[in-house]
Amino acid sequence: MNLILLGAPGAGKGTQAVRLAQKYSIPHISTGSIFRSKIKSQTPIGIVAKSYIDKGQLVPDEVAIQIVEERLEKEDCKNGFLLDGFPRTVRQAEALDEFSHVDAVVNIAVPLNKLLKRITGRRTCSKCGESYHIDYLNGKTTCAKCGADLIQREDDNEQTVTSRLDVYQKQTAPLIDYYTKKGVIINIDGDGDIEKVFSSICEKLG
Ligand code: ADP
Ligand code: ADP
Ligand code: ZN
Repeated sequence: MNLILLGAPGAGKGTQAVRLAQKYSIPHISTGSIFRSKIKSQTPIGIVAKSYIDKGQLVPDEVAIQIVEERLEKEDCKNGFLLDGFPRTVRQAEALDEFSHVDAVVNIAVPLNKLLKRITGRRTCSKCGESYHIDYLNGKTTCAKCGADLIQREDDNEQTVTSRLDVYQKQTAPLIDYYTKKGVIINIDGDGDIEKVFSSICEKLG
């Protein structure tokens, strides 16, 4: 199954992606994580990506498209994949349609006023990428899954977030219409607890 997770920053894409990838035995491909690992190893793409990510802007389409196209050619994607954070523009969606096909797009909707709190309180595992929230960590500073340290992403500050939410509205939200017209959208209310959101996605995916 070729799946896409759509939603604003903080909607819970990463959180649900980890669970869905495990349930359906498909690789979880997060373009944000790929960029962060390239930034860490200071590759040329990482250096370019950082200048955009730090400002809360999107990395240029050509860069994101090339990374995903190459990733989807790998053997582990033969039986399906789960894209988290791609496509983010209509141009990216059109490119994806050229080199692959999409079975379902899970659109996770969360009211805008809750997103800011989710993002600024997010803590991310430095190793496996699992997302946590300070409200539920009870002071813990390590990952419950792999034991690595939890960090706050550099771009999860209030200033960058405002720009990211704006970018989402202008550049990514039009994809809801794009995929609705193609008849592949699954709309999910993301404003419930994590397990409830997960079971409603599974129910609709069948
Ligand atoms: P995204 O990948 O869409 O940016 P994340 O999955 O990283 O979002 O989640 C953003 C933040 O919100 C994290 O701190 C995460 O723990 C928290 N979160 C995710 N899903 C829920 C939920 N259903 N209810 C409350 N908090 C959530
Ligand atoms: P979030 O979980 O908060 O939505 P991501 O980890 O998916 O954030 O992405 C972090 C940043 O990486 C984005 O703000 C953007 O700058 C960049 N990015 C990730 N995916 C893409 C993409 N498909 N196209 C362009 N930029 C991207
Ligand atoms: Zn971890």
